[in-house]
Amino acid sequence: TKVTEYIRRAEGKALFSIEIIPPLKGQNINELFESIEPLMEFKPPFVDVTYHREELIDRVGPNGLVERIPIRKRPGTVGICARLMERFHVDAVPHVICGGFTKDETEDVLIDLNYLGIDNVLVLRGDPEKSAGIFKAKLGGHTYASELVEQVSNMNKGILLRAETETYPTDFCIGVAGYPEKHFDAVSFDTDYQHLRRKVELGANYIVTQMFFDNQKYFSFVERCRAEGITVPIIPGLKPLATRRQLTVLAQIFHLEFPQDLVKEVEKHDSDKDVRQIGIEWGTQQCRELLEYGVPVLHFYTMGKSDNVAQIARAVF
Ligand code: FAD
Repeated sequence: TKVTEYIRRAEGKALFSIEIIPPLKGQNINELFESIEPLMEFKPPFVDVTYHREELIDRVGPNGLVERIPIRKRPGTVGICARLMERFHVDAVPHVICGGFTKDETEDVLIDLNYLGIDNVLVLRGDPEKSAGIFKAKLGGHTYASELVEQVSNMNKGILLRAETETYPTDFCIGVAGYPEKHFDAVSFDTDYQHLRRKVELGANYIVTQMFFDNQKYFSFVERCRAEGITVPIIPGLKPLATRRQLTVLAQIFHLEFPQDLVKEVEKHDSDKDVRQIGIEWGTQQCRELLEYGVPVLHFYTMGKSDNVAQIARAVF
């Protein structure tokens, strides 16, 4: 079932959904599944699974010299999606990224997803390689998420890059990312909105936002999108603050500004146990206000821990 169809059927009642991250290479999947099991009580119709590019890692080779080798630290997105659907009877929404893939490799991944019965994909550019700092497309790959949206839209029309036989159209519902605090690469908010609109014009059916801790940022984002003629559902992405360190780490990684009230509250406390509680209270307030505003879904970035998300969901649904 398509995410947009779930939203339509809910008739204005907000849904609950989550995003999970594949375990580090070599680790067991059961721990991840056990961590999200308690969240099934809130009946997420869909669960997102992130995709991770290969990173260049320095390793000492057999000859004693340092070699740079590509390693995908968190493989398994497609397999996890298959298991999620089987175990929890939810729709799995794999993320598909431009970074590290040629268009042909992407086409093959999309064919796998189609055969698995997956109806939704979240289409992203992907982050730059940590060693490079700026995003570079693989030779024969896409530079922007919009190009990958176009590729999926073409598959939905039965147009493949290369095909030896008659092709049948897929029917993927396409999600894309939006940034209430502007994407860090964008020269201005104006161009960022233009690029977002382009993704929708090329076939995106819904938007999921980067995490934010100040609802005003989301409200302004939605307002501006609507003014730009973007009419698709805009799903807020949420992450309860869990440690004091996240005030710096999340701000750096995701280019966010924390509201002063939240920072002040956290600074009054030394223990992360207290900070976790503050994160739950802040998240609960955020969600209550978002529900009042009429958001279609409350979408949580679980990042491997779910007790705080469960507490918020219990308080607001
Ligand atoms: P794009 O939409 O391509 O935009 C990237 C930048 O390019 C923006 O600044 C945009 O304004 C600009 N731009 C777009 N088109 C043009 C153009 N034609 N000319 C000039 N500039 C242009 N990363 C992962 O690696 N794996 C994941 O699973 C993953 N999941 C995510 C889920 C969500 C909900 C979000 C919000 C992000 C996720 N990310 C993930 C991170 C994402 O890949 C990065 O934020 C990435 O830097 C941008 O991706 P995008 O799809 O928004 O890119």
